[in-house]
Amino acid sequence: MKQYSLIIDGARVDTAAYADVRNPSTGAVVGEMPLATPADLDHAVAAASAAFKGWSRSSEEERQAGCRAIAEKISDNSEELARLLTLEQGKPLGGLGSRFEIGGAIAWTRHTAELSLPIEVLQDNDQGRVEIHRKPIGVVGAITPWNWPVMIACWHIIPAVRTGNTVVIKPSPLTPLSTIRLVEIINEVLPAGVVNVVTGENSIGAALSGHLGVGKMTFTGSTETGKKVMASAVATLKRLTLELGGNDAGIVLPDADPAQIAEGLFWGAFINNGQTCAALKRLYVHDSIYEAVCEALSEYAARIIVGDGLDETSALGPIQNEAQFNKVRELIDDARAKGGRILTGGAPLDRPGYFYPVTLVADVTDGVRLVDEEQFGPALPIIRYSDIGEVIARANANPAGLGGSVWSSDPQKARHYARQLECGSVWINNHGAIQPNAPFGGVKQSGIGVEFGVDGLKEFTTIQTMLS
Ligand code: NAD
Repeated sequence: MKQYSLIIDGARVDTAAYADVRNPSTGAVVGEMPLATPADLDHAVAAASAAFKGWSRSSEEERQAGCRAIAEKISDNSEELARLLTLEQGKPLGGLGSRFEIGGAIAWTRHTAELSLPIEVLQDNDQGRVEIHRKPIGVVGAITPWNWPVMIACWHIIPAVRTGNTVVIKPSPLTPLSTIRLVEIINEVLPAGVVNVVTGENSIGAALSGHLGVGKMTFTGSTETGKKVMASAVATLKRLTLELGGNDAGIVLPDADPAQIAEGLFWGAFINNGQTCAALKRLYVHDSIYEAVCEALSEYAARIIVGDGLDETSALGPIQNEAQFNKVRELIDDARAKGGRILTGGAPLDRPGYFYPVTLVADVTDGVRLVDEEQFGPALPIIRYSDIGEVIARANANPAGLGGSVWSSDPQKARHYARQLECGSVWINNHGAIQPNAPFGGVKQSGIGVEFGVDGLKEFTTIQTMLS
């Protein structure tokens, strides 16, 4: 079985111990993840710190060329990366699966390469000149989750290096191998030490977020862990970008056409098997079209093939890991016990692997765990409402504030209600679409700061104000 290595200062570094990484479709070992020690982490931070001296002084053109070259390298290796991603993450190769994710990684890298943060002149007159300069922070610690590991790694690494920082990335122990391979590829085009990867158990993430040599943490994961990362940042007042959990509400207005919106609702909720931060996780449907929407969604769901990600006919794969599988099962069982009507799915598939079919649960409401908690899996509660003002309040009565959506045949009316939702992104007749030029981030307990575009780039810099 292939043993992977840490990548530190441009070189492969072996460790004393390794852990198996398993395919969630079969349980087979995909490869062995190196278990970094605190000394390995110190080594990586020291390498990133040493590399910062040169990289932070490199020209804009050099950094831009570096990012462009990364995009080309990922593109050249895209099929290999996609297969490795499918093996360790479970998602299908086709559809909205691994090839789509690698395509996203390339698109975001290309877009970010072209961005820049020129000097801003605030004042230039007889009283003087005021300029804002953007400077890199230093070593950026990046921690990523297991749902979209390669794309999220690029969301962290590329803006960091584009602005002159260096990086130590620590992927999820559940999906570390595609990130190791990505960093290997990046090291073929960037100077040694600019991007380093350490892998291991959660404790190595805690050590990275508390490391005195790290100037900024960029973290994507659960709200619970994000709070720990924030607490660890106190000692050195690290800069933070936290992209955390969501419990996005979608609101279907009475004038929506159920047949027309079913496909968008379905993929808004079930992209990546629902294991997506900004997936539609609570669907509120007006009483007058409630049964019609339930029916249209059930019909669409019946066409979806769930299977091994390597099988090109699969539209969805397994749940990624046992803990998440158990959580989804528990929430669905609880919803059923509380009177939820299972429209489709509702029990694990009878086969090896963490397979759970698409599950639609009608007749549940706020106060049931499947509605109140982030399920992060293939289960959607469909909730009835009759009063729009009241449903907006219910949608907002959740500590999460990542995304939301309004569905209607009248876009102006939809925009009116969309503005009332407390969330960082809001979509009309769509849910979860993101793009590299549009800032993305959570409000309330879904995070701090934004990613993507110029606003996302700024998060990897500090301001120096020059007055002359
Ligand atoms: P998680 O919080 O369990 O783990 C995320 C990462 O944190 C992993 O790399 C893990 O090893 C590391 N970690 C664990 N304990 C740590 C600690 N004490 N200190 C530092 N790092 C630690 O999350 P997950 O289960 O991998 O991912 C699912 C969650 O991520 C969901 O809540 C989802 O909504 C969220 N998510 C958010 C976004 C977003 O952009 N807002 C994107 C993707 C996922």
